[in-house]
Amino acid sequence: MASSRIYAPRGTQDGLPGEIRMKRFVESVFMEHCRCYGYNEAHTPVFEYSELFERGVGPVTDIVEKEMYTFTDKHGDRLALRPEGTAGLARIIIEHDMAKELPLKLSYKITCYRQENPEEGRLREFHQIGAECYGSSRPQADSEIITLAYTALRAMGINKLSLNINSLGCHDCRTGYINALVRYLLPHANSGALCPTCVSRMSRSPLRVMDCKNPSCREVAKKAPKLADFLCDDCRAHYQGVKASLDAVGIAYNEKNHLIRGLDYYNRTVFEFKAGDGGANGTVCGGGRYDGLCRELGGPDIPAVGFAIGEERAIIAMRESGMDEIPPMKPLVYVASDVPSRASRGAARLRGLGVYAERDLMGLDLEAQFAAAGEYGARWLVITAENGIILKNIETGDESAMAAGSWDEVARIISDK
Ligand SMILES: [Zn+2]
Ligand SMILES: [Zn+2]
Repeated sequence: MASSRIYAPRGTQDGLPGEIRMKRFVESVFMEHCRCYGYNEAHTPVFEYSELFERGVGPVTDIVEKEMYTFTDKHGDRLALRPEGTAGLARIIIEHDMAKELPLKLSYKITCYRQENPEEGRLREFHQIGAECYGSSRPQADSEIITLAYTALRAMGINKLSLNINSLGCHDCRTGYINALVRYLLPHANSGALCPTCVSRMSRSPLRVMDCKNPSCREVAKKAPKLADFLCDDCRAHYQGVKASLDAVGIAYNEKNHLIRGLDYYNRTVFEFKAGDGGANGTVCGGGRYDGLCRELGGPDIPAVGFAIGEERAIIAMRESGMDEIPPMKPLVYVASDVPSRASRGAARLRGLGVYAERDLMGLDLEAQFAAAGEYGARWLVITAENGIILKNIETGDESAMAAGSWDEVARIISDK
């Protein structure tokens, strides 16, 4: 009786070794940059109380309204799989009273879950790396965060990067803007030019209409009043400061008046990096300032700015930049023998000395083992017999005979060149 096969759930991507090598590269480049910038890694749980995201990300967001994986556990607690990294990090900063010495600079590497529509090329399980700077409201903090993201993305091999920035202002200047925006949007809502989601959001979160992906809504958004014209003096000065600070480090940017980013917690600076021709799926990194988040979650009033890079998006952009794959490591040496236990012993000794050594596990005879050494791409071949070891440089064909058991010397010779 044949049983039916089980496949991976929709919207998930299995991590085959080639993909994982790309991911590890992305992560190691990022973490190395975090080291130079002084951002220490912190971890949060994969699930949190749903309320954290409802309050932190904001109730009127795609994430909370449509995309969060929520469940009630056996104790009746409402939990959610982490849809993003910022709310959880804010929680642990509050819970562990970490904001005593500022600035507090943290980085993270997480798996996130959102019930996205897989048809749009989005994953329901995906990976993010990010960095956040708590405690400084100065424009230099914004520019440090943007510079960290930029240099890391470049070091991953992503070329054709473009940076879009905007300022969303503070609560005060946004109130004036929102009034003007609602006055502009109302006739369009009445004439049916806005999608039903936007109409329902207009009273609660009218800014979100500006980043709706519906073509008709986008047309309306294009001619809407610009937030930049409503910024108060402080917000205008902050925005100028961010731009001047980016100029100082030589990072080019485009000012995008309609860049909102789909999360409620942002104020002042928002930014995104796009790769390639800059299509909707080309966003590899998004971030901004969220000065009110800690207070919103019941913590101290500390300003913050940060970003997240989508690892899968970054890998797509790397491939578009010509970096197709990272080849697997080749063994430095292949240990051959007609007695399997002898190959076991030799390989174990070399591996114990930090050498990547391969040996036969398939019952090959000695001739076939020599061929296997070549197929692996090993640089050295060791033949271990009862009366001694033969060490052969596969490239040059040079051979030398050594005493049985002289594995330390073998390791020294082959690691030397
Ligand atoms: Zn303002
Ligand atoms: Zn819409």
